[in-house]
Amino acid sequence: MKNINFEEKINLSNYTTIKVGGFAEYFSKPNNADEFINLIKWSHFNNLNFQIIGAGSNLLINNIFLKGLTICTKKMRSIKIESHSGIVVAEAGVMLPTMSNMLAKNGLQGGEWAVGIPGTVGGAICMNAGSGTLSLADNLLSVQVIDTKTLEISEIQTKDLNFQYRCSPFQQNNLQIISAKLLFEPNGNVEELLVTTKKNLKRKTETQPYDLPSFGSVFKNPTNSYAGKLIEELGLKGYKIGGAEISTIHGNFIVNNSSANSQDILDLITVIQQKVLQKTGIFLQPEVRMIGFDYP
Ligand SMILES: Cc1cc2nc3c(=O)[nH]c(=O)nc-3n(C[C@H](O)[C@H](O)[C@H](O)COP(=O)(O)OP(=O)(O)OC[C@H]3O[C@@H](n4cnc5c(N)ncnc54)[C@H](O)[C@@H]3O)c2cc1C
Repeated sequence: MKNINFEEKINLSNYTTIKVGGFAEYFSKPNNADEFINLIKWSHFNNLNFQIIGAGSNLLINNIFLKGLTICTKKMRSIKIESHSGIVVAEAGVMLPTMSNMLAKNGLQGGEWAVGIPGTVGGAICMNAGSGTLSLADNLLSVQVIDTKTLEISEIQTKDLNFQYRCSPFQQNNLQIISAKLLFEPNGNVEELLVTTKKNLKRKTETQPYDLPSFGSVFKNPTNSYAGKLIEELGLKGYKIGGAEISTIHGNFIVNNSSANSQDILDLITVIQQKVLQKTGIFLQPEVRMIGFDYP
């Protein structure tokens, strides 16, 4: 197989927004869909374990040596926008803030909420990322995927995918996202869209700890409540284990005060879960995805 470029023993803490992670045995950043597909085929034929990461903004990776291949999609950045129809075709590694700003500049409405989310299109589909009642699945027409067992490439229509709150079939299945086709509302007022996009970013950076490494909301909001509110009501803001701290700005964020390791963060997650369960009877489900742990 040609054009297989990978590095060895790469520190994954440089590829997660919380700046924690173990070492990948093999690591590669494909430049485009073809290289991505080739890497998946290569790991399949060599019987390697593998994991896909996007911008690593919703990931807790254990401080261990991760056998096999880790593929980071961040360089798969091709995006085509049809202003008249509102159709957008984006490779998995396109960053949401980039897409959000491009949509606004092209008069396409419906992506203004995504400007402050530091993830890729692939990661956002896998997580069904969103804000308030909106999520990326609302604008998704179809997804081009590769099946890691059969190596078959196909296009799946959104109606055949069961998206739920911060949940998608890609969290369980063997399909990896190559690219996505999305639809936004055309002919919007560019100036207004740019103002809304800017306002959304400002609101997020003012209410969430953007100046310290984190992985966004740690827990999913339970029905009819907010994880951050429950944590705050227990007086846990500022609570620390090692270098991991519950943000003093937002109760549902854990920040890395420069020296946290994955165990500090996992321990803090467990303490929050126990305290909230004891006090309220609610078990907080992590939103963040874990790699290299025996986490249920
Ligand atoms: C400051 C901050 C603010 C945030 N705000 C929000 C918010 O408002 N709303 C929200 O929903 N989230 C938010 N997040 C969380 C996070 O940014 C989103 O979940 C984002 O969509 C994750 O994308 P990613 O590329 O970083 O994915 P990663 O964290 O790299 O991966 C997440 C999951 O997606 C999988 N994955 C990645 N790429 C692919 C692919 N191509 N094919 C198949 N699976 C793939 C990974 O294997 C992993 O299971 C925030 C995070 C931070 C740090």
